[in-house]
Amino acid sequence: MLDGLRCEVCRCLNMLWLDPVRGIIECHACHQTAIALPPENGGEAR
Ligand SMILES: [Zn+2]
Repeated sequence: MLDGLRCEVCRCLNMLWLDPVRGIIECHACHQTAIALPPENGGEAR
């Protein structure tokens, strides 16, 4: 579970789950999916 994240579609808090296999984030409330960007992969700070 991704703590403190809110789904942009249904506005549910703490309903987002990271799917490491597909590399996406899925909302378990409305089943909206989004592409997850692995934070460990982008070490460069802008
Ligand atoms: Zn949702």
